[in-house]
Amino acid sequence: MSDVSNPGPAEVCSADPASAARLEPLPGRASDLMGLPIRRLLPTRGRRLIGPWCFLDGLGPLSFHSGKPMDVAPHPHIGLQTVSWLLAGEILHRDSTGATGVGRPGLLNLMTSGRGIAHSEETPSDPTTHDLHGVQLWVALPDASRHVAPGFEQREPLVIVEEREARARLVMGEAAGKRSPATTFSPLCAIDLELPARGRLVLPLEPGFEHALLPLAGDVHVGDAALAVDTLYDLGTSRRELCVQAGERAGRALLIGGAPFGERLVMWWNFVARDADEIETAREQWQRGERFGAVAGYPGERLPAPEMLARPQPR
Ligand code: MN
Repeated sequence: MSDVSNPGPAEVCSADPASAARLEPLPGRASDLMGLPIRRLLPTRGRRLIGPWCFLDGLGPLSFHSGKPMDVAPHPHIGLQTVSWLLAGEILHRDSTGATGVGRPGLLNLMTSGRGIAHSEETPSDPTTHDLHGVQLWVALPDASRHVAPGFEQREPLVIVEEREARARLVMGEAAGKRSPATTFSPLCAIDLELPARGRLVLPLEPGFEHALLPLAGDVHVGDAALAVDTLYDLGTSRRELCVQAGERAGRALLIGGAPFGERLVMWWNFVARDADEIETAREQWQRGERFGAVAGYPGERLPAPEMLARPQPR
């Protein structure tokens, strides 16, 4: 996998001839998560899903001097997995299965809601760093698996491609003939790309997947295009490989992908379901304190569900 036979200067990558491959920035928007400024990149106008990935927020980069930039009180989820991947900082997770864990750079925090879970996420009260930078994503669970038991796990990524000082690490799913031990329910990948200044990587891709690339820091180029940080680029399908390069500065990016999901979803608040009745039921059960269990140890009240102003529609 490592191109030691050709240690010359980085060459420009050839264009991918596949007609369904593209490189299209998707419109993101600034939002906030309990006071923490975030960038909502999925769902977005014209694009609901990349494979099973149905939600993507960029957090930071930011520095803080006191308090908790992240402080999300206990709230419920159904029908999804939450994926937290940090470049800097820490997030303390607690959930209603009794699991706790601190997410930090290089360690995936993965929660499977299955039929129902509640969790809180906060900056630890004794943080070892005063920076925060990362992403949080949701994976929609396919119909056959969406009622599984809830769970939480932490996983270290696997290095799948290394070229000189550039490396690709598989955070979750499958790529380049390797498979992460992180629990998944449909074919997908999440890959962290780290490039030194002027470095490059050629990453083999599954052509049946939809893919998207999120530059997170520095200079990231695909082909001749210099990409904007914190913008999600739709890469389309039918790509057998992706050549990513850094410019004068080092670059960092996250690639997500997966088999086209092929199921219509109804998403509202923190719920992923198939129809509005399921959402209304989950909302009422949360409000009544049923189904989801309690999160022990969080110093505060749980989040009430918002009013449902209109029945959510499938899309
Ligand atoms: Mn959550």
